[in-house]
Amino acid sequence: MLKIENHIGGELTAPASGEYLDNFNPATGEIYSLIPDSDERDVEFAVCAANKAFPVWSKMSAELRHDVLMRIAALIERDLDALAEAESVDNGKPKSLAKAVDIPRAVANFKFYATAAMHVSTEAHETILGNGGQAINYTLRQPLGVVGCISPWNLPLYLFTWKIAPALAAGCCVVAKPSEITPMTAYLLSKLCIEAGLPEGVLNIVHGLGTKAGSAIVTHQDVKAISFTGGTKTGEWIAREAAPKFKKLSLELGGKNPNIIFADCDYDEMLKTTVLSSFSNQGQICLCGSRIFVERPLYERFKTDFIEKVSHLKIGDPLAESTNIGAVVSKQHLEKVLSYIELAEEEGGKILCGGKSIDLSNETYNLDERNLKSEIQNLKLKGWFIEPTIIENLPFDCRTNREEIFGAVVSIQPFDTEAEVLEYANSVEYGLSATIWTENLSRAHRMAERIESGIVWINCWLLRDLRTPFGGMKNSGVGREGGFEALRFFTEEKNVCIKVNY
Ligand code: NDP
Repeated sequence: MLKIENHIGGELTAPASGEYLDNFNPATGEIYSLIPDSDERDVEFAVCAANKAFPVWSKMSAELRHDVLMRIAALIERDLDALAEAESVDNGKPKSLAKAVDIPRAVANFKFYATAAMHVSTEAHETILGNGGQAINYTLRQPLGVVGCISPWNLPLYLFTWKIAPALAAGCCVVAKPSEITPMTAYLLSKLCIEAGLPEGVLNIVHGLGTKAGSAIVTHQDVKAISFTGGTKTGEWIAREAAPKFKKLSLELGGKNPNIIFADCDYDEMLKTTVLSSFSNQGQICLCGSRIFVERPLYERFKTDFIEKVSHLKIGDPLAESTNIGAVVSKQHLEKVLSYIELAEEEGGKILCGGKSIDLSNETYNLDERNLKSEIQNLKLKGWFIEPTIIENLPFDCRTNREEIFGAVVSIQPFDTEAEVLEYANSVEYGLSATIWTENLSRAHRMAERIESGIVWINCWLLRDLRTPFGGMKNSGVGREGGFEALRFFTEEKNVCIKVNY
């Protein structure tokens, strides 16, 4: 069975413990590879390797750093199909989605930050002194040193590279941990980095459990900053550990995003996009709109059409081109999502569509659609599938509408006024993103200004420009990623003041 290895000091290595964890294929429910069960010893090796590499990497010209990061981007692009397949097998997501979104975005992350590093500038402030003298202040931005990057399982390579690329471009050396649930594309990235000639020790990837390998990264005294994407509870723990050590923190956490639909919207565009914003990636995107509020005159029409469209989504083999909804990432996560559907019913919710897990165990893992490799021939879809679920009749402030489910479950609810829907939208402890559908420009601006979220999409969803600030407010996070903001995060600012003598 394939054994994933850590990537430390430029080499693929076994964990110090010699122990491995099982890695499941969510579509078949079977173990298909093994992951290093790394601990603080592996993290120590990785930090040492990163510390050793830092003096050279941080002093390398931006152009040379750019060249090696662009080579990594080109290699990811070369392996697009294989990486998309690996992501699908590891995560359960449709391969078509990985091919169209996840892997191209990993390429874009490296390209964006490789080039950004060549365009960084800094400020200078001229200070006029009362006596006719003058001082010049300029800001130095120096790479922090060794930094930790920890990412979740929902968009594995996409989010892993979103952290690593700016850290490397800024001149830092990295110790990174992907989610233990989806380690495969990070492992494949290790190989591509070696092929691209990334100097040894600049990027170190340690696989394993969050509570063991992850926490060892967070608490290591030589790790100067943590860039973390994951659940709010984990973020809270990291903040508690990192604060007394005065580490820099960027936390991208959970969400419970509102999707607000006014009656004057472009109906067809809204309907098509709302299906995607609700159920893409099995609803396992932090930016999915899980609370749908519809202006009353449109409510019944929307409800009928939405149910109709969602009931035609094809659930099944993630490797098949025709599949819209793949497998849920793990058995535990499936159980969590189902428990929320049960809770919704207890809270008075009416299931309009879906609501159950699906048994596809008689179906073969993509027999018709590709040349199966011998080792996965004759596998059945015995994994974890769930119907996309629409619920109505829930109060806006019940638990189902307040807590993050992170699955293919949405609630729909009518509203009458802007003030009312703003109250609903802002009533949760999260504030990651919001979507607003209206053709009324003034209303769009009014709502965007008043809504409590770090990202507002008007008449669109998941339209990303990597230069823009990305992140959440309230319990959805601290700090912003994206653009030059992310490069700055990985640097220490130092003001230098020079008094000029005449
Ligand atoms: P987790 O918080 O469980 O895990 C995220 C990462 O942290 C994983 O690599 C995990 O390792 C690791 N980890 C867990 N415990 C610790 C610890 N004590 N110290 C250090 N690292 C630790 O999140 P999920 O993987 O379940 O991801 C889903 C969550 O991520 C959702 O809440 C979602 O909203 C959020 N998310 C937020 C995004 C944003 O941009 N705001 C984007 C995408 C997702 P392991 O897997 O081994 O447990």
